[in-house]
Amino acid sequence: MASSGSISIHAQNIMPIIKKWLYSDKDIFIRELVANGCDAIAKRKIADPGAEVEYRVTVEADEAAGELRFIDNGIGMTAEEVEKYINQVAFSGAEEFLKQYGDEKNPKGGIIGHFGLGFYSAFMVADKVTIDTLSFHEDAASVRWTSEDGMRYEIDEGSRDLPGTTITLHLAEAEHEFLHEHTLRETLEKYCAFMAVPIFLGKGEQPINDTNPLWLKNPSDCTDEEYKAFYTKVFHDFEPPLFYVHLNVDYPFNLKGILYFPKLRQDFGGVAEGQIKMFSGQVFVADNIKEVIPEFLTLLKGVIDCPDLPLNVSRSFLQNDGYVKKLSAYITRKVADKLTGLFNTERENYQKYWDDINPFIKYGCMKDESFYERMKDALLFKLTDGTYVTLAQYLEANREKAENKVFYATDATLQAAAIAMYTSQGIGVALLNSLIDVNYISFLEFKNSDVKFSRVDAGVDGLTADADAAQEQPDAGKLTAFFRDALGDDKLDVTVTALRDEALPAMVTEDEQARRFKDMSRIYGGNFAMPAQCKLTLNSRSPVVAALAKREANEETLEICRQVFDLAQMAREPLEAQALSAFIARSNKLLSMLLSRDA
Ligand code: ADP
Ligand code: MG
Repeated sequence: MASSGSISIHAQNIMPIIKKWLYSDKDIFIRELVANGCDAIAKRKIADPGAEVEYRVTVEADEAAGELRFIDNGIGMTAEEVEKYINQVAFSGAEEFLKQYGDEKNPKGGIIGHFGLGFYSAFMVADKVTIDTLSFHEDAASVRWTSEDGMRYEIDEGSRDLPGTTITLHLAEAEHEFLHEHTLRETLEKYCAFMAVPIFLGKGEQPINDTNPLWLKNPSDCTDEEYKAFYTKVFHDFEPPLFYVHLNVDYPFNLKGILYFPKLRQDFGGVAEGQIKMFSGQVFVADNIKEVIPEFLTLLKGVIDCPDLPLNVSRSFLQNDGYVKKLSAYITRKVADKLTGLFNTERENYQKYWDDINPFIKYGCMKDESFYERMKDALLFKLTDGTYVTLAQYLEANREKAENKVFYATDATLQAAAIAMYTSQGIGVALLNSLIDVNYISFLEFKNSDVKFSRVDAGVDGLTADADAAQEQPDAGKLTAFFRDALGDDKLDVTVTALRDEALPAMVTEDEQARRFKDMSRIYGGNFAMPAQCKLTLNSRSPVVAALAKREANEETLEICRQVFDLAQMAREPLEAQALSAFIARSNKLLSMLLSRDA
């Protein structure tokens, strides 16, 4: 009973699917027809090596006739070849694909642009397609194939007298925009800018493409000027890139490309601004294909050419494809290698770039474990004095003063006084002032579980000293009562501690975790009204505090307490308008009191 046979597919059922699928990327027919011309030329170069031909593909619009022509001087086709290659469309599995991946919310079926449909994409825009072709074989005769719907065709004698193929599309009424020079040029530049055969538009004398793109050259043959010129040309970005990575491997993948680090805006807030153009054998496929390019790398600009990538399939396939995963991991690794290479051999330059690239690197570390693992020793902190240190260097330098602590500031100007308290003790303060740092700090703490980050106004760690044994210790209870009374806050958290700087009577601090929580909710738009969790630390070594502790509870004492508190507050952040007026009025009052004693 066993038997076998071949399954046939009816063109009537398939053509509507082609048109529907490719609808949103309709202009892709231009890419497909130009690519076929390039393929035909590539084949002729091999099959007919002696031919003295200036190979080219020409795209011509005839507005009067409503026709678009794609002319090549490639291998051409015999009548049998037309029969074989054009009349037999191998759509194996097409219906299954639509069933499996097509869905109503996503009418494209999640398909990336082309689907290997190639030639038949012409029927998305044409109501008649003619192939006029002459094979390069000596005894071949010219053939003309014509079809109005891609389902029925006629074959006739053709009119070409030189080998090659002319494909003529009689455009449907609605598609006449493709006859416009501007649209045509734009589409050709989008898809064909780097194809391997010179492509001419109409009577233009210069090809519209660069047949030998920089990324295919050997990196050792490329100059810095070439890299920069290529960047400007491709990305229309006149701000030069910081640096670039030239990817050039044949094994284990065939992968070529150049990734540029653009100058990023400091506070990009995680918004991707980059653009990575994906090519497959010099044919443009799409921008920023997230399955191939790790998400954080889409902040970069660049080109990736991977001829072996199975791109004419759906994105869900790409997601699960082992090859694509390896490719993506490889690209990440190369970028990390370039950065760590710079860090190890050109630390000065790396530091120069750090201000610009740090948001990108931080984002990458948080997004991609393997990137972090490679980068972790090359992560820098910029200190408020302008120097750059790694976490290890920072911890080493401060080991005596505050073990496993990193002090940081989020605003060098507003927090200047608090910063100075640390720097004057010889403790470095890291500037972590971009939006991404809020998350990055927590990330680093998670990765380095013994290290704690503390904003300069979060506590008094690193600023304390041993209490002077000789000195009489002020009465903490009495002082607490004074300040609570003065500030009208009977819950005010007051501690009395010996601080290193005797000139400093008090410090106001805000709990690190509570403040971070507030920062987070600000960024993510949360609306948690958190009461400020401020703490007042009085310096037992300060003569002001000692004197205050000896006073009676009277209005003058309370005014002094308020003054001490405001001064401490001002070291942390500017006073708000009302508090500032009160402070000024009080300062004047205290001055008058002082002067009245002279009288
Ligand atoms: P693909 O390019 O993926 O093979 P196409 O549908 O684009 O699929 O083309 C089908 C076949 O038709 C090609 O493989 C080629 O043999 C033939 N063909 C198409 N265009 C040309 C051309 N301009 N010159 C010669 N042969 C062509
Ligand atoms: Mg093709």
